[in-house]
Amino acid sequence: MALTFDHSYARDLPGTYLAQTPARAPAPRLVAFNGDLARALGLELSEDDQTLANWLSGAVVPAGAEPIALAYAGHQFGGFSPQLGDGRAHLLGELVTPKGRFDLQLKGSGRTAFSRGGDGKAALGPMLREYLISESMAALGIPTTRSLAVVATGEDVLRDTGLLPGAVVARLAASHIRVGTFQFFAARGETDQIKALVAYTIARHYPHLAPDDALGLFDAVTARQVRLIAQWMGVGFVHGVMNTDNMALSGETIDYGPCAFLDAFDPAMVFSSIDRQGRYAYGNQPAILAWNLSRLAQALLPLLGPDEAEAVELANARLEAIAPAFRLAWLSVMRAKLGIEGQEMGDGALADDFCAAITGADWTLSFRTLAAAAEGRAEDLLALLPAHQPMHEWLPRWHARLGPKALALIRAANPAVIPRNHLVEQALTSATHGDMGPFTSLLAAVQDPFGLEEGREAYLHPAPAGTGPYVTFCGT
Ligand code: AMP
Ligand code: MG
Repeated sequence: MALTFDHSYARDLPGTYLAQTPARAPAPRLVAFNGDLARALGLELSEDDQTLANWLSGAVVPAGAEPIALAYAGHQFGGFSPQLGDGRAHLLGELVTPKGRFDLQLKGSGRTAFSRGGDGKAALGPMLREYLISESMAALGIPTTRSLAVVATGEDVLRDTGLLPGAVVARLAASHIRVGTFQFFAARGETDQIKALVAYTIARHYPHLAPDDALGLFDAVTARQVRLIAQWMGVGFVHGVMNTDNMALSGETIDYGPCAFLDAFDPAMVFSSIDRQGRYAYGNQPAILAWNLSRLAQALLPLLGPDEAEAVELANARLEAIAPAFRLAWLSVMRAKLGIEGQEMGDGALADDFCAAITGADWTLSFRTLAAAAEGRAEDLLALLPAHQPMHEWLPRWHARLGPKALALIRAANPAVIPRNHLVEQALTSATHGDMGPFTSLLAAVQDPFGLEEGREAYLHPAPAGTGPYVTFCGT
């Protein structure tokens, strides 16, 4: 028996979930398995592929698992839905490993009591996208849920584009507690459940806090989320659906739907087909972070202070501090990317002016070519830019700020390889047609993001000019 489950969430938080049985996939087949992750966590999954496919699709519930669907609410694109919940996911339980406690959750594993009109299923392409992008984020050093496996179910699912092969992703998460989890109980006025959730979240993620320290929890979550979104901004990541149900209290990136990485830098960049107002545009993510945290503060309000007026005052002071805290976190990411050490007064302007100078140019390549520019060879950087003059003015200021370790710092902070949108699309299309080759090679490339460019030319560049805008789709 290779998996040992605990069920602390179910044990400590009755009334926040429902026991649900995953659908029995007709012909589960392992299409991706993260052996490195399993080994790193000390999971001894030496079972044959068929057993793993059965377990990790939910076709066979492994011994010790007690599948549940979690209740949560959420603001979706600003509108409140009092009941969302796991409509196509089953939490099998928690794996207690030498590296910590991880939820093992199946997504795409069938209908639950929270499915509303949905079929509870998922298509292979989007589940492989979650696997690829989450593994890329992990390799980039960004907190994220991880993917243990993708299992094809052997059944087709009906989507806008027609029938597609179905699949389940098995993911590991520090937990699945979301801002929306708190909102679910706040909307029902169930303050005792919020207290229980606060105590549980603190014990699991912030054990240095007292179990009833809701304000401390808010501060701790804010600190992690601020750092997380600053890291997203650093690599040009656009989550695409920063709804409050997709923001985890653990501080991990969660729920990879219509996400993408910037090619050309444009703060207004949106990839998701349904984000017509640009609510979740690249440059709007810090503002949405603050908006989502204010929803968390609102849900916690009854626990924040002795009376409502004082609680509101405490919360408002916290909320006003988010934007300046984000600026500091962002600056710390940018200093590393620009290869500068220590802190100087002009660093903010240096970072802002660099971003202004690369507007319209490839985000990833612009930073990566700073390595050569640090050694006086700025041709590759300049060749990327629509206009040279701002960069000609910027480069001497930057050189004056560089120390002896600049080159190493730049290479360590700026990836050469990110999951380029057009390559992700090609890999997923090929996989949908039965060829896993492009997916496997792209996965290997993104798992070594900071390595040197040599021999990896196929993965370094954005789509050729004239390819047209990249569009991603939700709820698939
Ligand atoms: P997401 O956009 O993946 O964060 O999902 C938002 C909500 O829609 C969650 O409550 C999901 O469980 C639910 N959902 C998404 N796709 C499906 C589906 N195919 N069937 C049932 N529920 C779904
Ligand atoms: Mg979600």
